[in-house]
Amino acid sequence: MSSDKDFYTRAGREKLRVDVPQEVRWREGRYAFTRTGRRKLDLDVTESVAAVADDDVLVLEDDVWERVVAATDGLAAPCFQCGVCTATCPWGLVRPEPVGIRRLVRQAQLGVPGWAEALWLCTTCGQCRAQCPRGVDIPQVIVALRNVAWKERRVPSGFPTLMWNVYWYGNPYGRPPSQRSTWMKDAGLEEFRTEDEVLLYIGCTGNYDRRIQKVVRSLAQVLAAAGVRFGVLKDEEPCCGDAVRSAGYIEYADEIAARGAALFRERGVNTVVTVSPHCLNQFLHYFHMPEGFRALHYTQYLWELLEAGRLTVEGELPLKVTFHDPCYLGRQNGDYETPRRTLGGVPGIELVEMRHNRERALCCGGGGGRMWLETPASERFASIRVAEARETGAEVIGTACPHCISCLEDSLAGDAGLRVADVAEILAWALARRAPARSGAAS
Ligand code: SF4
Ligand code: SF4
Repeated sequence: MSSDKDFYTRAGREKLRVDVPQEVRWREGRYAFTRTGRRKLDLDVTESVAAVADDDVLVLEDDVWERVVAATDGLAAPCFQCGVCTATCPWGLVRPEPVGIRRLVRQAQLGVPGWAEALWLCTTCGQCRAQCPRGVDIPQVIVALRNVAWKERRVPSGFPTLMWNVYWYGNPYGRPPSQRSTWMKDAGLEEFRTEDEVLLYIGCTGNYDRRIQKVVRSLAQVLAAAGVRFGVLKDEEPCCGDAVRSAGYIEYADEIAARGAALFRERGVNTVVTVSPHCLNQFLHYFHMPEGFRALHYTQYLWELLEAGRLTVEGELPLKVTFHDPCYLGRQNGDYETPRRTLGGVPGIELVEMRHNRERALCCGGGGGRMWLETPASERFASIRVAEARETGAEVIGTACPHCISCLEDSLAGDAGLRVADVAEILAWALARRAPARSGAAS
């Protein structure tokens, strides 16, 4: 097995061609490859050294090397270069050649920076990590490499705009913060009070994207039907920092999380329910909150309400639904069943599965900051997902993430026999069936 690209040591000192996967082994041995004393490598170069052209050379600069090693922090060390990640990555489904994920992990192992396109293609979907035989957290490795790229000012053009938008406007879309809540007037959303049971965290997409505003309206109807005392932070609601973090600007994302957590504490938030699994991921893993604080995705909260008998869905909704697992609810946070159970709480729904579901579900393509980068129509993962959904004969692709809804609907355009709906919308349709005056609301 040989590397897909030549690998080099310090710029200008040596030019080596090395079959990386088989030739480099981490073990006690002679020093080679990087600066003496920093890494111990046994490198068999006897068969594999050859002169090459300068433009094949990967330049290793000492200060960048240190940043790569610090940023990746040993995450890539267990990798034995089997290539399963490259083979598993969904980019291989939409491009003639697989994208070199294994090589990125190799670069992280060796402390070599890399600004290849692959670094920015990753949607952090976690498909590769789920299959990696050594348990390498590959999306984290990639985000760490992106972090180095920020410091080297080697990022794609969409991402600086994203950062400035969050910095100036408090949302990645660059929309005025004063308009965060203008759409809420008739949505049944009131200012959060400390005595409320839950804070409904809507998120930037839910507040500024008109399609997702509809989802939030449905969710508010369902919560109201269950008699939940809930509130929202309106214009004060902070960005969760997901887009910033997954684009690799980790330090800024940590600042956002610290400020957001301070606001939650100040406002007396004990339970936060999110519209997006991406926001949930930030609250669960990066918001340092006091013991007892709960962060739930809304499907999880609705299931609790159904189980407790606070939410009852009596109206029958005969509908064939296939559920698309959002990566940040499923692979990233391990919940595949709750949204299915929640949908199962609606009488009349027939749930059918796509070929790839749960841990093997295909990403929609919108994570990892990809919503802020261009993806040609021919390279949309969501188009493959829509084709899988069609195979099931479902009438509706149910999902539970704003990015998934946007990507799937973009790929669905023009298909009259299939539609995309959020789980909250499906529940709201079923609840509307109970009230004769609003029957047919599922149209
Ligand atoms: S699947 Fe895991 S062990 Fe195999 S090359 Fe990728 S990161 Fe390394
Ligand atoms: S996280 Fe997903 S998109 Fe990123 S490298 Fe792994 S499989 Fe590919």
